[in-house]
Amino acid sequence: MDAVFVGRFQPFHLGHFRVVEEYQEEFGDFSLVMGSAGKSRTPENPLTAGERKEIIRSCFPEIKVLELEDEGSTEEDNRQWVEKLEEETGSEVVISQNDLVKRLVQEYTDMELLEQDLYDPEKFSATEVRRRIREGEEWKDLVPDCAIQNIKDCQEVLRETKEA
Ligand code: NAP
Repeated sequence: MDAVFVGRFQPFHLGHFRVVEEYQEEFGDFSLVMGSAGKSRTPENPLTAGERKEIIRSCFPEIKVLELEDEGSTEEDNRQWVEKLEEETGSEVVISQNDLVKRLVQEYTDMELLEQDLYDPEKFSATEVRRRIREGEEWKDLVPDCAIQNIKDCQEVLRETKEA
């Protein structure tokens, strides 16, 4: 059975790492879907798809990462987005913790939804990693060791990309 784990990975952290470790073995084909692939250099989405992939690949060199662009925000746009997710991945299972993604998968697709256990989401969150880097606080305990160097390489962007 095939599964995809959907996220923005801005940046990839220990919570995401644990999910990959947990499910990679369970599913014959396990891939990541990188949402908001076309967005970058905004406070919520500072890193480009390429930068995010580099970070993920430093931990999982072989993993497949499919880039998915956002649609608009109407219900019709949402339906198109989730249909694109189903068509482009051909996956049977979607792993997500995003309420909108969960609803869309259940309402508009034949895919099965798997809600992963969040690994201490208050602490292990991309928003918290970005905040710590911006504030000059220690952040390395929130990310896997394999990702530290590549995130360091993006530190300047993560520090500088904030609300105008
Ligand atoms: P999100 O709303 O940013 O993520 C959901 C929440 O779950 C985030 O707080 C995330 O934390 C957290 N999370 C996920 N895995 C975790 C883990 N293992 N441990 C701890 N926390 C975890 O959305 P997303 O699921 O990352 O991405 C959904 C993507 O689908 C977005 O790119 C969105 O734009 C796209 N989408 C587009 C449309 C459309 O275009 N109409 C519709 C639906 C969805 P982190 O911030 O730490 O990752």
